[in-house]
Amino acid sequence: MGRRPGHAQGNRRSALSGKIPENSGTGTRLVNAGRREEWTGPVVNPPIWRASTHLYANEADRKAAQGNNADGQFYYGRRGAPTQWALCEALTQIEPGAFGTVIYPSGTAAIVQALMAVLRPGDVLLVTDNAYEPTRNIASGILKRFGVEPRYFDPLDVEGFAGKFCERTKAVMLESPGSLTMEVQDVPALAAIARDKGAVTLLDNTWASPLGFPALERGCDISLMSLTKHVSGHSDVMMGSASARDERLYRRLRRTAQQMGNVVSPDDAALMLRGLRTMQVRLDREAETAGEIATWLESRQEVAHVLCPILPGFPGHALWKRDFTGGCGLLSFVLKGGTEAGRAAFVDALELFGIGYSWGGFESLVIPFDPADIRSATPWPPASWNNEDRLGVRLSIGLEDPADLIADLSRAFAAMESV
Ligand SMILES: *Cc1c(COP(=O)(O)O)cnc(C)c1O
Repeated sequence: MGRRPGHAQGNRRSALSGKIPENSGTGTRLVNAGRREEWTGPVVNPPIWRASTHLYANEADRKAAQGNNADGQFYYGRRGAPTQWALCEALTQIEPGAFGTVIYPSGTAAIVQALMAVLRPGDVLLVTDNAYEPTRNIASGILKRFGVEPRYFDPLDVEGFAGKFCERTKAVMLESPGSLTMEVQDVPALAAIARDKGAVTLLDNTWASPLGFPALERGCDISLMSLTKHVSGHSDVMMGSASARDERLYRRLRRTAQQMGNVVSPDDAALMLRGLRTMQVRLDREAETAGEIATWLESRQEVAHVLCPILPGFPGHALWKRDFTGGCGLLSFVLKGGTEAGRAAFVDALELFGIGYSWGGFESLVIPFDPADIRSATPWPPASWNNEDRLGVRLSIGLEDPADLIADLSRAFAAMESV
């Protein structure tokens, strides 16, 4: 899979200060991240510190803690304990160029709180039209209610992007590849324009993770992830993260998260740390199978478009090759014509793909999608397509054997044709 980032520069200063040798590769980083001896003690993994109350040695000790809101300091359960701190540090260590990372109870919580950390009433927020639907709901819902004005833009129109800014534009929300439809954005170009205009660039980096797309090195200021997907990897825990490139932004994220009463359970943090160790191996395997399946789908007469950045021939493939160092198992395709009943028969006939939201787990999933009603800045289907080709299917490819998944998909196409 593609090139592998060397992470050669390390993080010169960071919120916490656990060390991994400067030139370590991704696998070495994933294995060692967050495992400071002061947190792990004599065992391999940071233990689960279940705590609301932290006890002080004496009154002087309590008073000293009261004035100290530094990272990695005991105070009260809401500020976490070593299990959560280890996860924050680990995520910083795998995100090239990150100063620090804040964790949240879900990816959605990370998105809304990061946006609230950088925006004020009266500000304009530019949102890419291919954003995850709950991100749009945040922008057009709670943020709008608190005085922020969301404006949506064409994810692929770099030339027109600069023209979308006004005096009040203070943040840009990117997502690449886009949810469901997989457009690959020219993130370095868009982020450079945003920086020039004085706006903060946030990127939903859930698809690639920093292993596949070093967002901060590509010009973004805040890299967001739903850890629920690849980091967990086992479909049994939810969480989100925001990693900031500099101390000022990191402090804003952390302060907002503290004021919002943000808490992540230590048990969940330990599960995330477990998932993190095997993430590169899972992503490589899933991306390899996804590439095989994408190529197979392209050859099927029932399929009009395969939406998969790692597939040569996909419109976003050149940008993916230029900017990404890896992929994952999430891809979509659009049926050639077809009916909703036929698509439902296809989905129902699958035996190895569960029907369900989320993705990035060890098991394969399928979900039908129709983004036409979600978008506001760009049409779906795109103007250059045959208008009949619009019924979408998203696949999350897991760790099953590729031949078995292809046989399952093949069976499902036969079921669709018999409707
Ligand atoms: C799932 C998802 C989220 C939200 O994450 P949750 O942990 O489910 O809240 C955000 N962005 C993208 C692209 C996602 O797929």
